[in-house]
Amino acid sequence: MKQIVVAIDGYSSCGKSTIAKALARYAGYTYVDTGAMYRTIALYTLRHQLTEPEDIIAHLDQITVGFILVNGAQHATLNGEDVEDSIRTLEVGNRASQISQIKQVRAFLVAQQQAMGVHKAIVMDGRDIGTVVFPNAELKLFLTASPEVRAQRRYDELVEKGEQPDFQAVLADVNDRDYRDTHRAESPLRQAEDAIVVDNSHLTREEQMDLIYGLFDQTIQQ
Ligand code: C5P
Repeated sequence: MKQIVVAIDGYSSCGKSTIAKALARYAGYTYVDTGAMYRTIALYTLRHQLTEPEDIIAHLDQITVGFILVNGAQHATLNGEDVEDSIRTLEVGNRASQISQIKQVRAFLVAQQQAMGVHKAIVMDGRDIGTVVFPNAELKLFLTASPEVRAQRRYDELVEKGEQPDFQAVLADVNDRDYRDTHRAESPLRQAEDAIVVDNSHLTREEQMDLIYGLFDQTIQQ
């Protein structure tokens, strides 16, 4: 069977990682969460109180971003330390959205992401996977949902983690992040011309996965 690269891009809190993980399991492929890589660098900059782009760039050679499997789940590592829990906060997400605007940070991570895909059989999710990291990916999906639906999902996730978020603040954060992700000079979030758009505002998880598994099956048979 043909091995392919699946590129999944889209707005924050669209369920990208859940979908990408499920598809990787279905296909028997490796899953790579590139947002976790930006978040890991963001965590480093917060811990070291680095705010100026030139200071962040100067530290890149001291940062190793990796992944390990813990009970079957992928955890991000920062210089060998499991940071999966620490990178999933609103603060780190916001910082990730800021540091991802730095050209050298992107180049640093894009090179690593491309190296992960040389043997194909990979599902990668992010913002620039179909446009910059793997412009030749055989299957490109662009996920979207309304800001309100996405804010509700993020709100529920935070509540589940024991946080006490304010819904309006979460919605404002979703809108801010969308704006930054789509308006930045470096690799803004945009749909690749050959990407298939999946708006999951009104799809059940099952409907959505049936659609995506079908697209995958069609692509590997072509
Ligand atoms: O997807 P996630 O919310 O974990 O990503 C955190 C931030 O990292 C995003 O808001 C985005 O600014 C940035 N990012 C990016 N390019 C990627 C993945 C994430 O710029 N490929």
